[in-house]
Amino acid sequence: MNDLFARHRQVLPDWLALYYDEPLEITHGEGRHVWDAEGNRYLDFFGGILTTMTAHALPEVTKAVSEQAGRIIHSSTLYLNRPMVELAERIAQLSGIPDARVFFTTSGTEANDTALLLATTYRRTNTILAMRNSYHGRSFSSVGITGNKGWSPTSLSPLQTLYVHGGVRTRGPFAELNDREFIAACVDDLRDLLGHTRPPAALIAEPIQGVGGFTSPPDGLYAAFRKVLQEQGILWIADEVQTGWGRTGEHFWGWQAHGQSGPPDILTFAKGIGNGMSIGGVVARSEIMNCLDSNSISTFGGTQITMAAGLANLSYHLEHDLQGNARRVGGLLIERLRAVAAQLPGVREVRGRGLMIGVELVKPGTDEADPKSASAVLEAAREGGLLIGKGGGHNTSALRIAPPLSLTVAEAEEGAAILEQALRSAY
Ligand code: PLP
Repeated sequence: MNDLFARHRQVLPDWLALYYDEPLEITHGEGRHVWDAEGNRYLDFFGGILTTMTAHALPEVTKAVSEQAGRIIHSSTLYLNRPMVELAERIAQLSGIPDARVFFTTSGTEANDTALLLATTYRRTNTILAMRNSYHGRSFSSVGITGNKGWSPTSLSPLQTLYVHGGVRTRGPFAELNDREFIAACVDDLRDLLGHTRPPAALIAEPIQGVGGFTSPPDGLYAAFRKVLQEQGILWIADEVQTGWGRTGEHFWGWQAHGQSGPPDILTFAKGIGNGMSIGGVVARSEIMNCLDSNSISTFGGTQITMAAGLANLSYHLEHDLQGNARRVGGLLIERLRAVAAQLPGVREVRGRGLMIGVELVKPGTDEADPKSASAVLEAAREGGLLIGKGGGHNTSALRIAPPLSLTVAEAEEGAAILEQALRSAY
């Protein structure tokens, strides 16, 4: 066991998640690859943790960051900041939210906290609706509303949270229903819940649940929920921390896949926009954003250096149609993995959109989650030179695949072949 791991254990919390039996120290990256301290090269099918949106060490981003660092890194948002205004303009326009205002934070957690602050202040109530199996971050508020026990160590949230059906029906009483019946049952349940509670401020939902295992509700569920909520003025918060920036291929934002009547009232983003630099943020129409009646700044939100990275990264993304690439290459990868799954009884499902792909594992011949095999596949993939993620609800039995959006067809094929080997070794 290497010396760094022993030192890590001495000074960092026990609950800090570390992947792999033999911990991995990453030293550098390029394109879709990273290298460890022993010089081994890996194809990165987890994109950092969906943070490397375009590519590792993208020269355009590196140049923008080093030029900005040479001028000024941070002057605080108390003064005018050109890169922040320019990035806000681009995100406001891309969001589809009318009269949009953008507030930058340093993480997805802080973005969701801000969204919850806005919604509860605007609606004058601290009740929030969240989805079961959801993940929204690790602050007191966002971890408190997270509907995934494995990631929610406290239940002492300052908010009152009510959990609606998460849209996943692989198991339980909803499992036998078809989409139409399932949506009707969920809507009935939501109406019933609303009949028993004071009006909530908002419903917060991930268009595709990320940490929850890349699960997606059936088409039409969110649209049906939205209709019910709009009748009572309840806001919709789309947590796009994982699903934003064209990752899902067909659409720039995950919410656009759900047939809703319009953009969310509040949208939160983070992860990929900075290509690894800490950028998070909230978009809301001005009426909601401006409901706060006191100053609120994030000391490090909107620093020149992160904004410069975001601008360069977004420009590269749009100029190279990486959303289209995610659609094309992701489509091929999903097809390829489904062909493998058809031969392996332990692979229950390959799901997802674009380059956000979940592979659900079960004990062969059963419907039972198989976290042990998920860990074994993760280890075997690493052996083969491929990094992937895992996730899930009650059990972490889903593999998560989310490479940088510039993934090539050859790399997709290479990664799929390694993953196929790893799956075959586990089953
Ligand atoms: N929301 C979602 C959907 C996430 O997946 C995450 C992180 O994984 C967060 C919020 C929290 O973001 P961060 O880790 O940047 O605070």
